[in-house]
Amino acid sequence: MQIHQCRVCQSNKLERILDLGRTALANRFLKPEALKEPEPFFPLRVVLCGDCGLVQLDEEVPRETLFKEYIYASGTSSLVWAHARWLAQHLCRRYGLGAQDLVMEAASNDGTVLKEFRWQGTPVLGIEPAENIAAAAIERGIPTVVDFFDERSARQLGEEYGSARLFLARHVLAHVSDLHGFVRGIKHLLAEDGVAVIEVPHLAELFLHLEFDTIYHEHLCYFSAAVLRTLLAKFGLSIFDVDRVAIHGGSLLIHVGHEGVFPISAKVVEVLFQENNLRLSHPETWRGFAGRVAQVRESLPDFMDGLRNEGHSLAGYGAAAKANTLLAYCGIGPDRLPFIVDRSKLKQGLFTPGHHIPVRSPDALLDEQPDVTLILPWNIAEEVFEQQAEYRRRGGRMAVPIPSPRFLGSARRSGFPA
Ligand SMILES: [Zn+2]
Repeated sequence: MQIHQCRVCQSNKLERILDLGRTALANRFLKPEALKEPEPFFPLRVVLCGDCGLVQLDEEVPRETLFKEYIYASGTSSLVWAHARWLAQHLCRRYGLGAQDLVMEAASNDGTVLKEFRWQGTPVLGIEPAENIAAAAIERGIPTVVDFFDERSARQLGEEYGSARLFLARHVLAHVSDLHGFVRGIKHLLAEDGVAVIEVPHLAELFLHLEFDTIYHEHLCYFSAAVLRTLLAKFGLSIFDVDRVAIHGGSLLIHVGHEGVFPISAKVVEVLFQENNLRLSHPETWRGFAGRVAQVRESLPDFMDGLRNEGHSLAGYGAAAKANTLLAYCGIGPDRLPFIVDRSKLKQGLFTPGHHIPVRSPDALLDEQPDVTLILPWNIAEEVFEQQAEYRRRGGRMAVPIPSPRFLGSARRSGFPA
C-alpha cells in the first residue's frame, strides 16, 4: 500500500529521493519446498518530507506479513551481546536503577538486552510481537508479553505492571507505522522522573557511509535527531541527551524525558548542528546520494565478475536483511555468489529471498575454501575477519561491498567500516 502523508507531520509534500526497484521481503528466507511457490515483491522507494525532513518509505507492507515468524534473533551476534551488556551497565549507573525500578523494552526480541538489566538487579518486562521469539525469551526467564507496542497495549501494560522508570525502544521505531501511537504509549507508561532510551541508526551515518542496504521494507523511517525531536515534542517529551554508539553502522542513543524534567546537554546541540551542516533535510543532498548508490550497482558486479574471470571462486558471509537489499539492487544471484554462510542455525538450509542463494553454515568456508568471501553485513566485518582466521590462513581473502568493494587487510589496519 502506498502512503501519501508523512508519518511524523502528516504533510503530503513527499519527494522521491531513491528508488531501489521491486524487491522481495529482506527477511523472508525460503525453505527449499517454497522455492516453487510465487514470492511477493514490493516497491522499495524512499521519499523525503518537504516539511519536517523525515526520510521514509512510501510503501507499507502489512506488519503481520513482516513480523509473524521473524528469524532475526539478536543473541546470535557477539557484537549485539557486548552492546547489551554495556547498555545495561551504563544506564543503570547513570540513572541509579535498582530493585524498585521497572525496565520495559518494546520489541524486546529474545531478551538479550533485558537479561543484562536483570543481572544489574532491576525488574524487567519485554513486549515482543513475534511469537516464536517471545517464546525463546520466556524460556530464558525474561517475562515477555506477546504484542506490538502501541497506545492500546501501553494502556494495558500500565494497568497491569505500573509505570516504567526506564523504557527501551532499540531499533524498533523504524519499524513502526503509527509513530504517534507509539510515542503516546511511551508518554503514558513513563514514570514522572522516568527516561525513555530510543536507539536508532543515525541518518547522518547512512548518508555519509552510503549505507543504503539498511533500507528495506521493515524499515519505514530513517531518523535524524532533528526529526525525532519534532515527533517527541508533539507529545510533551523532549530529548535531553544523546550518545553515539557504533552498532548498526553508527546509531544514536536518544535519552528522552517528560518536558522540563531534565536539563538539555550540549551533545544534543552538537548532533543537531552536524545534521544541519550535512543538509539532511534538503532534496539535493539526497540526489547526490542516489548517484553514489547507482555507482555501487556498477562497481560491485564488476568487482565480482573480475574475480571470476581471473578464475577465483566466491562466497558470501552473513545472510542479513541488508545483504538482500544489496544483492537485489545489484542483481547478484547464485551465478555470481553460489552460497552465503551464516552463524544463525535458523537460516542455515534456507534460501535468500528474491535471488534464492543457499545459506550454509560457516563451516562451508573451510569445506569449500572459496578464494574470496564477501562480508555482506559490513557492520560486523571486523568480527567476521577475526573469526575466520583459519580460512584466511589457508589462503582465503575477505572483502566488503560498500561504500565501494575492497579487500580487507590486517585487522589492525584502519579502513574497517564502523
Ligand atoms: Zn513530515
